[in-house]
Amino acid sequence: MAHIHVLDEATINKIAAGEVVERPASVIKELLENAVDAGATSIDVEIAEGGVAYMRVTDNGIGMTEEDARLAVLRHATSKIASVDDLFAIASLGFRGEALASIASVSHFSLTTRTADNEMGTRITIDGGHDMECMPYGAQPGTTIEVRDLFYNTPARRKFLKTERTETAKIQDMVGKLALSNPHIAFKLVSNDKVSLITPGSGDITDTIAALYGYKVKEDLFPVAYEIEGVRVDGVVSKPTLLKSSRIWQTVIVNNRVIGDKAINKAIDNAYHALLPKGGYPLVVLSIVVPPEVVDINVHPRKSEVKFSDDKPIFKAVYHGVLQALEHPLRQVESGRLHQETE
Ligand code: ADP
Ligand code: MG
Repeated sequence: MAHIHVLDEATINKIAAGEVVERPASVIKELLENAVDAGATSIDVEIAEGGVAYMRVTDNGIGMTEEDARLAVLRHATSKIASVDDLFAIASLGFRGEALASIASVSHFSLTTRTADNEMGTRITIDGGHDMECMPYGAQPGTTIEVRDLFYNTPARRKFLKTERTETAKIQDMVGKLALSNPHIAFKLVSNDKVSLITPGSGDITDTIAALYGYKVKEDLFPVAYEIEGVRVDGVVSKPTLLKSSRIWQTVIVNNRVIGDKAINKAIDNAYHALLPKGGYPLVVLSIVVPPEVVDINVHPRKSEVKFSDDKPIFKAVYHGVLQALEHPLRQVESGRLHQETE
């Protein structure tokens, strides 16, 4: 008798979930990215108890037919790439086709969806990766996903979660980041029946920033618009007096994807350099566009990090872009100093 056996689908999905689904905020990220990829103009999120008890994401995107909905919850099922060649020019946020299967394997999951062409929608329910049921269901065009009791069948994972307050804050941050990278989409987050975030979807990034961080910050922002060596940087940076004690107000978007990148952070810090007190971080929202072939987004299942074939041009573009935007306030500071010295 062989000692080796191939794992069943539910077990494989649960293992994959360990990589993709770290906490409620990672579920929200995957569901929001799917809604963005589906062309939604409005996305509503509702959560209870930090997302652990309940999460629901509703979009008004293209929706799915029954056939597609059945496929969507299978592992490695995606409409976004067809072959390995597509990996080098990915236009969508998703492409691995494992988020829904992973989420459904560690929760009580339901997907309700309808395309505009169909009168009737479809509802699929899955419990911990098992007992899939599919039925016709009356619904608005678009898609709603509900996730209850996250990690109910993976107690080790569940134990690792932080307090409700921390998990809620992480979700809020995630929705905010997706809103900043999609200013043309109206986002709403309701947590324990209270509206905690709402963005207008006007397409103007400063409207989104104002909705998230308060209307007063708008007066302290300078536009960034810079291009060098095929790297384009747009966005806003704040006066060096508008500060937080961490990077919570800094968002870096590369080819429409929110990422974390040490070299880019360093370029931002260097551009502000002498203007900042130690441990102070200004508000920065940068959208960087690079040719798709110089960036590899397939380095991590959660896609929160990317790899550049050469990060020097990106560093340079960010550094000079921010510096140029700050030139005006920089001069004011310098002339202020000169004043003091000559007095
Ligand atoms: P990926 O996004 O990597 O393709 P997912 O598991 O997140 O993988 O989703 C699988 C597929 O289900 C997607 O490729 C898409 O075709 C479909 N899908 C998922 N969410 C939505 C949605 N909100 N609206 C329309 N289609 C969706
Ligand atoms: Mg996806």
